[in-house]
Amino acid sequence: MSLTHSAQGDLGQLLAQRTGRGRSDAIRQILAAATAEGVLSLAGGIPTPDSFPVSRITAAMDRVMAGRAVTALQYAPTEGVPSMREALARLASATGASVTADQVLVTSGSQQGLDLIAQVLLDEGDSVALEDPSYLGAVQVFRRAGARLLPVPGDRDGMRTDILAERLSAGDRCKAVYVVPHFHNPTGSVLTPERRRHLAELSDRYGFVIIEDDPYADLAFVGSRLPSTDLYGERVVRLLSLSKTLCPGLRVAGLVAPPALIGELVTAKQCSDLQTNTLGQYVLSELLADPEFLPGHVRRLRQLYRSKAGALAGLLHERLPWLSFDEPRGGLFLWCSITDPLVSADRLYPIALAEGVAFVPGSPFCVDRAGAQQLRLSYASLDAAQRSKAVDRLSVAFGKALADASRPDSRS
Ligand code: PMP
Repeated sequence: MSLTHSAQGDLGQLLAQRTGRGRSDAIRQILAAATAEGVLSLAGGIPTPDSFPVSRITAAMDRVMAGRAVTALQYAPTEGVPSMREALARLASATGASVTADQVLVTSGSQQGLDLIAQVLLDEGDSVALEDPSYLGAVQVFRRAGARLLPVPGDRDGMRTDILAERLSAGDRCKAVYVVPHFHNPTGSVLTPERRRHLAELSDRYGFVIIEDDPYADLAFVGSRLPSTDLYGERVVRLLSLSKTLCPGLRVAGLVAPPALIGELVTAKQCSDLQTNTLGQYVLSELLADPEFLPGHVRRLRQLYRSKAGALAGLLHERLPWLSFDEPRGGLFLWCSITDPLVSADRLYPIALAEGVAFVPGSPFCVDRAGAQQLRLSYASLDAAQRSKAVDRLSVAFGKALADASRPDSRS
């Protein structure tokens, strides 16, 4: 039986209240722009294809299928297969407090981890403090859970924990504080050890959970990653994405949570999808079982992205004097400001797309502040020739946007 037109209309009225919350077209637009014919994309945070350890993953897959195909194709425990939980516990312990496999839940990407945390912690109207601007995918999850967002300003050293402290002492309360401590998406900031410690102290004093979402930590161009906030306090949930370090396609990630939360998170995961894909867990845990593999792979990634970041920054300095940004220290993004007040990022965006280059305007990342002059550029995906062409197209687009804005009849 097919539905009549009016039945289709009625179905819209059946939607739950939360369905409309946190709806954002921004992520869909970014991905659409990244794949549109003829468009060079500086938009999505998509790893460069030559970062994937294809031959090592193929070899690991062959070993898994030769040795335990039936187990790898079967259902597995909701918590994750033991070897993957152990691999994630080893990674977490090497970069923060020592944890055991029973504190780890394997998730379908860190994005699912965020969603599970929101389901377990947040009632409608509960507050989550986060940097302004913040990762769109997290903002969307918290909004959908009905949370109130408490935006906290940040700078190059990450969230201004002094301002958070002032607000808490003035009476603001939150259940969770969300941070991206290394090479923040979109700002590129790195939370200093002093601020990590301060945040952990505040979480002890005021009783909130720190959600530490850290997918870019391995991509430091100089020096090494800083330890997790869980070295300084016990109220931390760590999200361990492997998407930028290994590959996003297998959707295998993990979270580490305190004993009081891990069981509830496992139950939420069970309701959501029973388990993360078994085969992907066996393949990645097989790969990570070789202690030589990851350090060498991460060295190569850092070199790859350092050179891409340096090349894009050099071109921008040379050809786009109207754009200012901090020198990149790691991760995938440059957070830029348009210094000419006549041209906003929103005004530039459609003109740039028409010229065949995509970026992400700043406003969708922002909670309270406008972000009108900001934009995010990713240096991850384009090769040298594409990069040069993309910057030239941006330059042309800016010229057109400026000419447009300077016309006497223009309204901005
Ligand atoms: N957190 C941040 C800060 C991100 O930038 C991203 C992806 N761009 C994610 C989480 C989601 O990562 P995953 O692929 O592990 O779901």
